[in-house]
Amino acid sequence: MNTEIDRLKAENKNLQHQMNNLMRNARLNEEKLQRFSEMELLLISTHSLRDLLQIVINNYRNAFDLNAVTLILIDPEYELLRFLDETGLQADQLPELKLVADPADVEKWFDLQLSPRLMAYQQEHQVLFAGSQAVLQSVALIPLIRQGKLIGSLNLGSNRHERFQQSNSTDFLQRLAAIVSICIENALNVTKLERIGMTDPLTAVYNRRFFERRLIEVVSSSVRYSYELSCMFLDVDHFKRVNDNLGHQVGDLVLREVAAIIDQHLRGSDMVARYGGEEFVVLLPQTPANDARMVAERIRESLAMHQFNLAEGKTLQVNISIGVAGMELSKMGGEVIDLGRELVKRADLALLEAKSTGRNKVVMAEVFVEKTELETS
Ligand code: GH3
Ligand code: MG
Ligand code: MG
Repeated sequence: MNTEIDRLKAENKNLQHQMNNLMRNARLNEEKLQRFSEMELLLISTHSLRDLLQIVINNYRNAFDLNAVTLILIDPEYELLRFLDETGLQADQLPELKLVADPADVEKWFDLQLSPRLMAYQQEHQVLFAGSQAVLQSVALIPLIRQGKLIGSLNLGSNRHERFQQSNSTDFLQRLAAIVSICIENALNVTKLERIGMTDPLTAVYNRRFFERRLIEVVSSSVRYSYELSCMFLDVDHFKRVNDNLGHQVGDLVLREVAAIIDQHLRGSDMVARYGGEEFVVLLPQTPANDARMVAERIRESLAMHQFNLAEGKTLQVNISIGVAGMELSKMGGEVIDLGRELVKRADLALLEAKSTGRNKVVMAEVFVEKTELETS
């Protein structure tokens, strides 16, 4: 009898133990699901490419208790590289992200069906985890696929060898990869649309809408850091004649080349935009008006010397008039938006003076420094 009781007791204890294990696993799974759906929501609501990549790499590692997460993306035309450059994200800020130009560099890790691969860490995986310092025992290599095409791979690494094994189910991981792929594509499309919305299609420089936006940002930071800021207004001389005499297609060609010539004389931090018709505007942060005048003079001269090559061996030459204005923002008061408008207005007035006093010249606006000047102007 006693032995029967003992046996039952032991069995009971054993069952209790199993129940506890099941409960613990269920709770862990529930927590995992919860974390997973939180992460999904976060990914789906992030439209900036830079933020998205950072979330995938950093948040995943923490939320899923991984030792390494790296991302390899195929970027044959260096498009991603340029977008990320523009957001100011330097390669060393996100070493876990690698862009590769050759699709074969990613393809070689997968079979033709592009299935996820779970396995023990091997020496050859080192290149995939080059950006991570962690010591790994097992890895999951998950292909990122969009419209049947491989766009990269998401690589997860753990210091536990039982974490990723061939026999594990990959449903979770495949779902994760599908979401990451869609979100990356979406963020790329948003970036491309933004790009289209801020550039002028004819000359490929920024458009006026983008200029207005940047003007406020640049004036704000110039005020904050007490930098001098200059602005140039440029207008092609007698441009109507070009259209009238040679046709608007030649006019278009001139506008494209004028934009390129202006751009050639600027620094990376300067910005040129097409303000309208044959009128361009340039912002030169951290530049005193006198330096801006010298840049303007170089643009004027180089355009005057430039020969536009037309059909049948004909050539054309055009001139440009430029108004330059500067402000010492450290000494200025008032609203940022008003300061920006004032700067542009002064450059425009200087341009009008250049036009009315002979064209093909650079005219300086008075540098305005005092708050009272702004208020009385
Ligand atoms: P000014 O020296 O006083 O600046 O004279 P202008 O002839 O350059 O100035 P005006 O404002 O009289 O003429 C500008 C012309 O630019 C008129 C317009 O048809 C032309 N234009 C504006 N946008 C475009 C464009 O995108 N392509 C072409 N081909 N012409 C354009
Ligand atoms: Mg003109
Ligand atoms: Mg004009």
